[in-house]
Amino acid sequence: MSIIYNEIDENIIKKLKEIVGEEYVNDIPAMMHAYMARGIMGIRAAPPNVVVRPITPEEIQKILILANEHKIPVTPMAGGLSGGFALPLLKNGGILLDCSRMNRIIEVDTNDRYVIVEPGVRAGEIWAYFHKHYPEWAPPIADGAPPAATIMGDAIERGFSLVTGRYGPQADMVLGMEVVLPTGEIFRTGSWGLPGAKPFYKYGLGPDLHSLFFGSQGAMGVITKAALKIVPHPKFKTVKAYGFENWEDSQNATLMASKYEMGIADHFVMVQGGNWWLVPTRWRKEKIPKKYDYWKNLGIPKYFMNFEIWAHSQEELDFVCNKLDKIILEDFKPSAKGKVYEWKLHPLQIQSRLLKPNKIAISYGQWEQGFLFVTWYTPWVDAAECMTIYCDLMEKYDFPPVMWYASIDHCREAIIMPIFCFDSRKTEDFERLEACETEVTKVFLDKGWVNYRPNPSIHAPLTFEKADMSYRMLKKVKELIDPNMIMHPGRLAFPWGPKETPKYLVGFRKK
Ligand SMILES: Cc1cc2nc3c(=O)[nH]c(=O)nc-3n(C[C@H](O)[C@H](O)[C@H](O)COP(=O)(O)OP(=O)(O)OC[C@H]3O[C@@H](n4cnc5c(N)ncnc54)[C@H](O)[C@@H]3O)c2cc1C
Repeated sequence: MSIIYNEIDENIIKKLKEIVGEEYVNDIPAMMHAYMARGIMGIRAAPPNVVVRPITPEEIQKILILANEHKIPVTPMAGGLSGGFALPLLKNGGILLDCSRMNRIIEVDTNDRYVIVEPGVRAGEIWAYFHKHYPEWAPPIADGAPPAATIMGDAIERGFSLVTGRYGPQADMVLGMEVVLPTGEIFRTGSWGLPGAKPFYKYGLGPDLHSLFFGSQGAMGVITKAALKIVPHPKFKTVKAYGFENWEDSQNATLMASKYEMGIADHFVMVQGGNWWLVPTRWRKEKIPKKYDYWKNLGIPKYFMNFEIWAHSQEELDFVCNKLDKIILEDFKPSAKGKVYEWKLHPLQIQSRLLKPNKIAISYGQWEQGFLFVTWYTPWVDAAECMTIYCDLMEKYDFPPVMWYASIDHCREAIIMPIFCFDSRKTEDFERLEACETEVTKVFLDKGWVNYRPNPSIHAPLTFEKADMSYRMLKKVKELIDPNMIMHPGRLAFPWGPKETPKYLVGFRKK
């Protein structure tokens, strides 16, 4: 598909200033590069030509109509912490639509159990707001993302929230959205589409438009409000942990416990684990022992699983914990291939794990100078195989095999997340990383596993090349709602298709 985007000239800047006000339009080159710094994990990204900071859906509507008329790329950003996914990808970056001024918590309904937010509402803010005004309820913030990430950005990404083990991916928590299309229409999804109706039913008035915007990476339209489910926030909490000697046992023991749906497993809000490499890579590489024996002597299991448990009373919590111990340490143990044992956490470890929003993941930048999370979904029973292959390939490409995984909705799915620790000052490290991910992706797509946050240079092109029919259907819809393909070009293999799009992307440069 041939498409040419136009440059932003003085006339466009003038019109943007008329829409949002002079102080909310910035095209100073240093500021454009400062925005790049937010894409801490992005290895393909470009500076925008201008940052515009609207505050109402109507302003966004006018900006999109203007950009559509002049064929200028638009990239929406909420908190900007998705790892470069909210940054332009083309040399001619276009408009970065920074939604951070739209930061109102509009409504909380504790009977229908939802909260309505604007895109700029950050995890730290909404957590503090509920702590103060609705301590009996919890908003579904991302489990490990920094407080500056937004609750809506995580939902658009289909990320994992602090209650993902029980309620499924973050996108499942969304009951309705208000969306502005590149052609200027503003509409609401689900029951919210009926004027005066509450956002209580996501499928709403007929076939569902809702899902088009999850995993859209800003390539479909701009979401200006969302209603998300809130969940009870009981005060009796703990974290139980178990050690294993191989991936299979950690996978199978967790599955056995998670099948107790409508029972104890409904109290496991977050179930996550990984290998011992998750521990040393939080410190500087040259200062830390790299042999497992050292960590074993400190009591770190080779493989482990944590169950974060919430309950309404101490009695209920004790019941769940005792039953979980019985399942893992008595019922599962005889079929295990290796040793299975309780990993008794120190009260400070439990306290730190229960702290929300937590900052636990940020430390992986310490090992060298950069880190990158990549995220795959597999059926739960494929998790062990997936992580074994992944760790082998990471070692083949000379990365420490740092691997984390978690249960989605009672182990219906597994989210598999390697943490690539690398030196972001070295071009060869980026090349190694992309070579490793290319090999991983080819193997995983053949296995039928999917990347939930497909990157533009490897995952999206390879996935859509293989899933040709899915791409063609998606393209039909995209052409209908974004006829000039102005929304976040380069993402999801738009507009040039899986084979061509990577050629247009900018990214790290060879020296
Ligand atoms: C240290 C660290 C830990 C993390 N831990 C977690 C975790 O535990 N769970 C998890 O799920 N994720 C995690 N993440 C990833 C990420 O931070 C979260 O997904 C985050 O919540 C994204 O929100 P954001 O506001 O930063 O989104 P952004 O980066 O601003 O945007 C995310 C995507 O949505 C698009 N977008 C943004 N706003 C709009 C809009 N208004 N309309 C349409 N499209 C839009 C963007 O273009 C982008 O593609 C982590 C990231 C880091 C750096």
